[in-house]
Amino acid sequence: MQIKERFRDPTLAKKIAGYIRKLAPPYEVKFCHVCGTHEWTITHYGLRALLPETVDVIAGPGCPVCVLPAAEIDEAIQLALNGIAVTTFGDVIRVPGSESSLQEAKASGGDVRIVYSVRDAVKMAEKESEKEFVFFAIGFETTAPLTAIEILDKQLENLSFLVSHRLIPPAMELLLGVGDLHIDGFIAPGHVSTIIGVKPYEIFPKAYHMPTIVAGFEPLDVLFAVSMLLKQLRTGEARLENEYTRSVDWKGNVKAQQLMEKVFDVVGGRWRGLGKIPLSALALKEEFMAYDARKKYGIKIERSRDLLPGCLCHLVMIGKIKPSECGLFMKTCRPESPKGACMVSMEGTCRIWARHKA
Ligand code: SF4
Repeated sequence: MQIKERFRDPTLAKKIAGYIRKLAPPYEVKFCHVCGTHEWTITHYGLRALLPETVDVIAGPGCPVCVLPAAEIDEAIQLALNGIAVTTFGDVIRVPGSESSLQEAKASGGDVRIVYSVRDAVKMAEKESEKEFVFFAIGFETTAPLTAIEILDKQLENLSFLVSHRLIPPAMELLLGVGDLHIDGFIAPGHVSTIIGVKPYEIFPKAYHMPTIVAGFEPLDVLFAVSMLLKQLRTGEARLENEYTRSVDWKGNVKAQQLMEKVFDVVGGRWRGLGKIPLSALALKEEFMAYDARKKYGIKIERSRDLLPGCLCHLVMIGKIKPSECGLFMKTCRPESPKGACMVSMEGTCRIWARHKA
């Protein structure tokens, strides 16, 4: 049996669920993950149904497309409508900006092109050297090193970067400050942790007495993580543990971290509906300013609106409500006609719930 299949074994899943039931306290506890893939696994495999009533797992802001503030979509739209070829990932073009999306900008004549990687954008810019290109760089710590490599490697005069990368640990810290959320433990994201390692989560047990488990993406990974959190709660401990040892270690990918450090400064950044989070975003360092699309084209967005009327993405993204508690869910907001960012991407909580529960 391959590792993947072993971590999907239904018999073992039932066994761990039985163990979880034994560990579960009689009072309610809430664990929070911050990863679209974790939410997909939990929802797709029906893991919540295996948990006792007193144990809940909620979804935090772990979808890179969902957290993009409308102002940054508006920036990309402004560029596309001004004759610059904006290249970005397929999901991004459907995310609502303040008034429209990149998809609508494209329909109105804007130059918007879908790419699968930043490398595709580089190739396009090389091929059409007379045309101005911008790569709209989004994503967490997993994709930021790829942007960094291209910036270091190929400095094309006709390609600049609209950098909208965000960092996960500061968003987790924000959740702990949300008054009535009451999280009892974190399930930290496996993908991001392959890059940053386990160390950056130390702050949670140390400063907040918050049990934290780095977990993989298979159903058994998530169930193991839940059982590990419950064990810590039982003994009153708050430790940082790594369930995903097959892919993540303490230091992470040091080379990738060095690439990010070479190219980016860590700055405050806005998250859709959540406001500005200190030290949660990346910006190009001074020496790469010539490749900063914001500086190069002097983009200015005076006002923006993150949420359309009735959209509760800001509450879904911090796990305060479930998608089905939004009045628009599967009524006016559906995967084919999203009203909010959480319904766009395959990693968005509303989109995942729509696919599995509607
Ligand atoms: Fe936003 Fe749609 Fe989700 Fe409601 S259902 S929170 S409108 S994405």
